[in-house]
Amino acid sequence: MENNSNDNMLTADDGSKHRQKQEPGIHTGSKGPNDRRKKFTYSIWYFIIAMLLVMFINYMMFTPHIQYRNVDYSTFKSLISDGTIVQVAFDGDQYIGYSVTKEGAENVLSEIARTRQIPLELDTSAIIPYQTYMIEDSSFVPLLDEKGVEYYATEPPKPSVLSSLLSLIFPIAIFFIFYYWLSKRMAGGAQGVMSFSQNKSQLVAEGETGVRFADVAGEDEAKAELEEVVDFLKNPKKYTDMGAHIPKGVLLVGPPGTGKTLLAKAVAGEAGVPFFRMSGADFVEMFVGVGAARVRDLFKQAKEKSPCIIFIDEIDAIGRQRSSANIGGNDEREQTLNQLLVEMDGFDSRTGVIILAATNRPEILDPALLRPGRFDRQVLVDKPDLDGREAILRIHTKGMKLSSDVELRKIAQASAGLAGADLANIANEAALIAVKERHEAITQVDFENAIEKSIAGLERKSRVLDEKERTRVAYHETGHALTAYFTPGSSPVSKISIVPRGYGALGYTLQYPTEDRFLLSEGELLGEVDVLLGGRAAEEVTFSDISTGASNDISRASDTVRKMITEYGMSERYRNMTLPKTNSGIEGVSGSREYSEKTQEYIDTETAKILEQRYALVKANLEKNKDALEHIARTLLEKEVLEGDEFEALAKQYAVK
Ligand code: ADP
Ligand code: ZN
Ligand code: MG
Repeated sequence: MENNSNDNMLTADDGSKHRQKQEPGIHTGSKGPNDRRKKFTYSIWYFIIAMLLVMFINYMMFTPHIQYRNVDYSTFKSLISDGTIVQVAFDGDQYIGYSVTKEGAENVLSEIARTRQIPLELDTSAIIPYQTYMIEDSSFVPLLDEKGVEYYATEPPKPSVLSSLLSLIFPIAIFFIFYYWLSKRMAGGAQGVMSFSQNKSQLVAEGETGVRFADVAGEDEAKAELEEVVDFLKNPKKYTDMGAHIPKGVLLVGPPGTGKTLLAKAVAGEAGVPFFRMSGADFVEMFVGVGAARVRDLFKQAKEKSPCIIFIDEIDAIGRQRSSANIGGNDEREQTLNQLLVEMDGFDSRTGVIILAATNRPEILDPALLRPGRFDRQVLVDKPDLDGREAILRIHTKGMKLSSDVELRKIAQASAGLAGADLANIANEAALIAVKERHEAITQVDFENAIEKSIAGLERKSRVLDEKERTRVAYHETGHALTAYFTPGSSPVSKISIVPRGYGALGYTLQYPTEDRFLLSEGELLGEVDVLLGGRAAEEVTFSDISTGASNDISRASDTVRKMITEYGMSERYRNMTLPKTNSGIEGVSGSREYSEKTQEYIDTETAKILEQRYALVKANLEKNKDALEHIARTLLEKEVLEGDEFEALAKQYAVK
């Protein structure tokens, strides 16, 4: 049965982004390919640093770091002439001249003359070495002789055996140490790819997840089914003795934020068994074969740790239908999926390993995954009903300071259609608002604001509309509200506002359903369409002209009518027949229709016809109630916000049925 409760009608104009689902970030602690690349760059840096280090050490140890004073040849000669330079070494194409600055330099000089180089161990502070380049000059040696300067030619330096050995071995040794370390790291990395235990980030083996069924509210049916799974894990013998077949895989199916991940954790927590959790996306890697290897390893580890639970979150990332026309040839994903299928076939559920998986898009899963012996059980984790929402709110406000006026029931009523994660978010938002407003405890109004904020985006009083726009918005919203007022079975209007909110929503009319709707009759669906069309009709009645502000209304109304024809079998010609589309298996690409071109044409013309009829009715009704429209819109312009009862009173006063 279709759950078609489009309750909590929020007729936000052009606020197509309203009621954004925030899927809470799922923390797997997994690292993406980016991290690997980073690691790689790190290694290069390590390498470069190591090389620089080697060079530096080499320089420090084996090069006599003596500051030569570079002078030009003529200066050099004059330094000899005035007796500053007392010793000259002919060193290849240059002269090194030594001058003495301190007492006790003689032994330094003689040592230099003896070894023909500046010995490392010598205190060279007593001398200054000058250096210059040779020039063909026949008067040079006579000058040296004349001044009595000692001169000699140096041999190419002959380093000691030890130092030459060291300078040779040292870099090589460093290189080898580095290489060893790197290869160990790489081995670790490769193992990390193959084995989860090496790399914790890939796998969360939460022995005790710390989550219990009591932490999950509302999902009673899902919980009942999963309690059975817990029992399998606790007493497998009870079932096998009876000859019963224990399911291998349980697929949790439901919209985002409804608590699928939470439930899987609760199962592990209740059963007290290890919990191997991976997200479908963790399997999908850059390298072909890695995903498959991970699957293999995951199952290997799980078997060692049995009884235990394997939980594959967001399985749609790997479990998507394998298609023949594969765009981009996603071999890796297919290999991973195949490996998963093989592993699931290859073990006996009596080993005590149960595979849980979660998805919010079961329709795109490969049918092979859903065959008996694989995920043969599906548990629906649906959006919570009124009681469920209240219970979830109770859980999430447990630690909060609530003022005595807070009625969770009312908040639950006002948040129809929201999932557990949204409610958790609202509770937190309410607390934040209370802090901001400096309340002593969280009040009912804080909760209401939190709901409005989460539904319609941030309040933005600062956004200024010009008077003409505001007037139009006021009439438009009043049109919605009045039409709702006249439509039998429509939820009562609880608020009309022309305070601009969020992503360009200029105003909105909020209807709180008195109860949850799971079934809508044909008449009620049409009523919904009427209310949506009411905004534009009011504009036309008042200004004889329509605006873009209704585009979101129009698209939703068209959608509903089209669905009535194609999905609910509510058209004249195809009464009680669906007109389906195939699943293309590719995100964002709709499948081909399974009906003729002519039928498509019928759908289009029929949609247009119905919308035209409804619009005419709505418009006629507003025409008749122009007086009410006028009064209410004027009041709205003045007050910006009309509460449900204020609106009701005005409507009663002016409207003619
Ligand atoms: P899903 O996996 O279905 O997308 P999650 O399990 O990740 O949703 O839910 C996200 C968060 O929302 C949970 O951590 C929890 O705080 C809250 N939540 C969702 N559903 C429920 C619920 N039924 N009861 C209590 N908290 C819930
Ligand atoms: Zn509207
Ligand atoms: Mg989840």
